[in-house]
Amino acid sequence: MGNVITYCEFTGESLRTAALPGIACARDVAKAQGGEVVVLLVGKGAGAAAQDAARYAPRVIAVDDPSMEYDLAESIAPIVKRTIESESASAAVATATGVGKDLMPRVAALLGVAVASDVAEVVGETQFKRPVLAGNAFSTVEVTSKPLLVTARQSAFDAATPLDAAGKVEPAEAGDSDSLGAEVLRIETTASDRPDLNDADVVVSGGRGMKSGDNFAVLEKLADTMGAAMGASRAATDAGMVPADWQVGQTGKIVAPNLYFAIAISGAIQHLAGMKNSKTIVAVNKDAEAPIFQVADYGLVATWEEAVPQLTEAISKVKSEG
Ligand SMILES: Cc1cc2nc3c(=O)[nH]c(=O)nc-3n(C[C@H](O)[C@H](O)[C@H](O)COP(=O)(O)OP(=O)(O)OC[C@H]3O[C@@H](n4cnc5c(N)ncnc54)[C@H](O)[C@@H]3O)c2cc1C
Repeated sequence: MGNVITYCEFTGESLRTAALPGIACARDVAKAQGGEVVVLLVGKGAGAAAQDAARYAPRVIAVDDPSMEYDLAESIAPIVKRTIESESASAAVATATGVGKDLMPRVAALLGVAVASDVAEVVGETQFKRPVLAGNAFSTVEVTSKPLLVTARQSAFDAATPLDAAGKVEPAEAGDSDSLGAEVLRIETTASDRPDLNDADVVVSGGRGMKSGDNFAVLEKLADTMGAAMGASRAATDAGMVPADWQVGQTGKIVAPNLYFAIAISGAIQHLAGMKNSKTIVAVNKDAEAPIFQVADYGLVATWEEAVPQLTEAISKVKSEG
């Protein structure tokens, strides 16, 4: 049985936090099918991140190409395809991030095979569980085409732990990677010192009940006491209170931090789909009947105006006491 290629995203000299659940899923696939996990890094600086990647897999293939500064799925897909073929791999996995979701269907099209998307559990050699109906039910799907392509739902797999011994790094050439005319013209991001929402250990999210963008400053203060990322419900982003890339949920980012604060968020199923796998959920809502309390580990029936400044002060005090 062939190996399991795992395409991993990286930033600087490290794998992105989001890559680790993908490696965990790849290990499950390898357990079900046989073979070993081989990490594939593609892009400018891949060589520098390869040492970190080698902590998680016996082999790392690093395609370090200065022309590939951005994660452009059109350019990466042919490299993933070629790697699968040259390795005679039986499967390839990527985390279902924005990049992974863009990439794997392109690889599938190039190979003429199917892709098991947003997989939450590896059930067997070719069978996978994946959420449907905004995460309210699971279906079991079987993929019979080969090689097997999978995107792993980030919040459904624990982060892969390092191996006892570091793996071997093998540099490789990008070769011909026709991007089909696609190019990155510019990246527009909100400048922030806070951690990326996908990678954060703690997330503070606000909803429509915050009433205005200015009021989010109160939540940002809370977030900054803990080094947390900011998130929001779609009602808050749609209303223009906060940037669209803060949106958590079915049509936003799917996160599973250790600690998630839902402040003035009702808990609609589409929001829960993006955060309910968080390890600990704290909700503040003035309505005791709000559905968010059904998933919250700690719930406070109070207005944010009253509760959040007190929370921030209490956390700052604990932090300063060391
Ligand atoms: C196809 C589709 C996809 C969607 N995708 C997403 C998605 O990805 N993410 C997402 O979030 N939503 C998504 N939605 C929208 C979702 O259905 C809800 O409309 C949205 O999540 C509601 O946001 P909210 O909880 O902030 O607002 P509301 O439902 O209006 O809730 C506001 C809450 O604030 C509380 N509140 C008000 N004032 C205060 C106060 N002073 N102090 C404390 N609490 C207060 C209220 O009691 C209420 O519970 C989607 C909808 C559809 C149809």
